[in-house]
Amino acid sequence: MSVVPFDRREGWIWQDGALVPWREARLHVLSHGLHYGSTVFEGERAYDGVIFKSREHSERFRRSAELLDFEIPYSAEEICAAKALCVERNGDPNVYVRPVAWRGSEMMAVAAPDSTIHVAIAVWPWPSMFNVVEKMRGIYLDIAEWRRPDPASAPSAAKAAGLYMIATMSKHAAERKGYADALMLDWQGRIAECTGANVFFTRGGQLHTPIADCFLDGITRRTVIELARRRGIGTVERRIMPGELSSFDECFLCGTGAEITPVAGIGPHRYRPGDVSLMMVEDYATEVRRRPGSDA
Ligand code: PMP
Repeated sequence: MSVVPFDRREGWIWQDGALVPWREARLHVLSHGLHYGSTVFEGERAYDGVIFKSREHSERFRRSAELLDFEIPYSAEEICAAKALCVERNGDPNVYVRPVAWRGSEMMAVAAPDSTIHVAIAVWPWPSMFNVVEKMRGIYLDIAEWRRPDPASAPSAAKAAGLYMIATMSKHAAERKGYADALMLDWQGRIAECTGANVFFTRGGQLHTPIADCFLDGITRRTVIELARRRGIGTVERRIMPGELSSFDECFLCGTGAEITPVAGIGPHRYRPGDVSLMMVEDYATEVRRRPGSDA
C-alpha cells in the first residue's frame, strides 16, 4: 500500500458541488461531524469505469443521513453524477469510491439543527481490504470483545462514522494477535458481522447468514443472496449462535471493500475455502463487471 498520506495525494475531490484539487478539500477543526459524530459515508467500487450499484449506494447514503436527522442536499441522481465525474476525472477506472457527509461549523453543541451539510466524494485505488495472497487461502478471524449495539441504542441501519469506533478497536486488537480481522457478535451474543463486511457460512448445500437487524445489511450481502439464488443455492437468514461455528463447512466475508473473502478460521474453528466460496468469488467478480444488456 502507498505510504503517501491521504491528504497529500494528487487528483480531484468533489466537495459541496464542484471538483477541487485533492489537497484543497478540507474541513475546519470545529466541525460538528468531527466532534459529535454527525457523519455518514459510503464505500463503493468502480470496475472498468462503472460504479457497481451506484444508485443503491446513493440511496443508502441519503437514508443514513436521515437516520442521523439530517438531509443530504443532493438527490440520488446528483450524487450518482458526482461520483461518476470523480471516477472519470481521476483517470483510474478501477477505484474505491468514498462519499462522506457531515454537519458543518455553524453550531458546536450537541444540538445543531441549523448546520450546513457538507458532502465530499473521493476515489482511490484499493485493490483489496486484505492481503491478496492470504485472501485466497482464507483469512483468520478473532472474535471481538466489543458487540454490535442493540438497535434501540444506535442507528444500526446507518453507515454512520460513529458506529465504526468499536470496529476500529476490534480490528486493532485482532491484528495485534496476528488475525486479519475480528468477527463481531451482537448485543445478544449472536454472530453479527465482521468489522467492515458481512459474513456467510455454508452447510448442507445452503448458505446461512445472520439476520441484518442490528448491523449493516450490505449491498454485497444482498448481491450474494441473489447470485446464490441464480445457482439454485438457497440462503437461510437466521439467528446464528457462536456454538454453531464448528458445524459449518465453509465461511466467507462479503462487502464492497472485502468483495468475497474466504475465511479459513474463526478462533479455534477451521474452514476449508471450498467450492461454494470459490464459486462466489468468481460469480461476484463477473457480476460487478456485467453491463446491462450483456449476456454475461
Ligand atoms: N458491514 C460493515 C460494518 C461494513 O463496513 C460494510 C462495508 N460497507 C459492510 C457490512 C458491507 O456493506 P456493503 O456490501 O454495502 O459494502
